[in-house]
Amino acid sequence: MSNEVLNSLLKEYEHKKLQAELDLEKRKEDLYLQIPRLKQIDDELNKFAIFTAKNILSDSSYPISDLSKKTAALKKEKEEILKSQNLSIDFLKPFYSCNLCRDTGYISNNNYKTTMCSCLKQKLINASFNKSNMSNLNLENFDNFNETLFSGDVDLAKYKFNISPRSNIKNIKNKCIEFVDNFDNPDYKNLLFTGNTGLR
Ligand SMILES: [Zn+2]
Repeated sequence: MSNEVLNSLLKEYEHKKLQAELDLEKRKEDLYLQIPRLKQIDDELNKFAIFTAKNILSDSSYPISDLSKKTAALKKEKEEILKSQNLSIDFLKPFYSCNLCRDTGYISNNNYKTTMCSCLKQKLINASFNKSNMSNLNLENFDNFNETLFSGDVDLAKYKFNISPRSNIKNIKNKCIEFVDNFDNPDYKNLLFTGNTGLR
């Protein structure tokens, strides 16, 4: 897979992530106008979060447990306000397309090791699938295969074959089906198509 495809997908992700975050800001603003208490709570929670971080860094002896109790009470109040509006707590979080990677395409595990998210992997697979022309499988498949397009007459002089092109193509189709049915069988031989330029 070329870097070009990955780069354009990552740009798409960046855009999606930004949109989700801008959308959240808009939602927040509207809700704060309706319920100013929510803004107060969020401001307080932000203040506490900064204070806690500073406190940890400066190794201060301020009782963190006090702060955690206040934080928990504020979060509960916020949850109840949202519930009274028939909104879930997730309403004040960005609506990402993928909650696993938050639209970044990558996930960090507990050991800070970064791996590609399944959503991005799937998009890369789809991109290579489309390039391979295999995206037409719903139209071009064994069920829609029309052997009557091939002549049922034997033409020994033309094809040097004692069977008709239709019988021949039926044999080829059956071989292909057999191949697909045995795709997971390591003992089954591969198929090789040869012929003039343009064979597909
Ligand atoms: Zn993802």
